Amino acid sequence: MLLDARAVTISVLAFGVSMFAGCSSEEIQPKATTVEQPEGKVSIRSRVADAMSALSDEDRRLAEEQKFCVVSESSLLGSMGPPIKLDINGQPVFICCEGCEAQAKRDPDATLEAVARLKAVKATVPGK
Ligand SMILES: [Zn+2]
Repeated sequence: MLLDARAVTISVLAFGVSMFAGCSSEEIQPKATTVEQPEGKVSIRSRVADAMSALSDEDRRLAEEQKFCVVSESSLLGSMGPPIKLDINGQPVFICCEGCEAQAKRDPDATLEAVARLKAVKATVPGK
């Protein structure tokens, strides 16, 4: 299974990261976090809160507004470790993991459009 995942990763890279969203793999390790909590016992919610707390106040506010990875829109920001901030045409954009970076940068217009859409969705939801 491990080998399988690697093989897939390699072939995805070989094809120049095609339509594949990069973050479905569990192999991606968060860079800077060495949280020693037993995996599985920590709820997603507290993991997200934990990851978000690694950001500055301003970045956290932006990430919470965006809420989901701009590339993999079913990926909650923070669910895979601290969200990664990108600068797309001068705009702050958050992705859930390094695997999404190439795709986010490949089509800046589409990425910014997706951010706007993510934020708009949240704005139309009453309450939170
Ligand atoms: Zn991602």
